Amino acid sequence: MTPPLDPQHRLFADLAFSAFEAGHYPASLSAASRAVESAPQCPRSLWAYACALQVAGNQEEAAAAYDQIIGLGPRRISASCCCRHKAHARGLIADSYLHLSLSLKESGYSLASKDAFAEHLDRRGPGCYSIYRLDGLPDHTSAIQARRPVV
Ligand SMILES: [Zn+2]
Repeated sequence: MTPPLDPQHRLFADLAFSAFEAGHYPASLSAASRAVESAPQCPRSLWAYACALQVAGNQEEAAAAYDQIIGLGPRRISASCCCRHKAHARGLIADSYLHLSLSLKESGYSLASKDAFAEHLDRRGPGCYSIYRLDGLPDHTSAIQARRPVV
């Protein structure tokens, strides 16, 4: 039984994405933290939080948040409050591997980074909606995108 969710978490996640895009990373992290406090199992809120941690340079906690999203798995994600679409759930997991690979690279774990990147590539394909085009993958955390729609 899932606990009732605070509907405000979507507003906090949207605020986090907007602040992220404006380059206001502390504000993005603050809004994303509130989204996760309101809805700790929301994959979209966890994603906003992970992205904000990552651009703030907190690679360790960002990696932990991406691991948490990956650990939810496509079934639980596609039954969640903000992502009810299997292809978007698979895309969220694939993109978590991609962002994780960049965090690992910046932390000096190049082998683990390459594994995570390979995992991202393996998961791409029909039925997996990444927010990135294959010819536009970020190669550094400063180039990551955060915004994901509620689907
Ligand atoms: Zn949600």
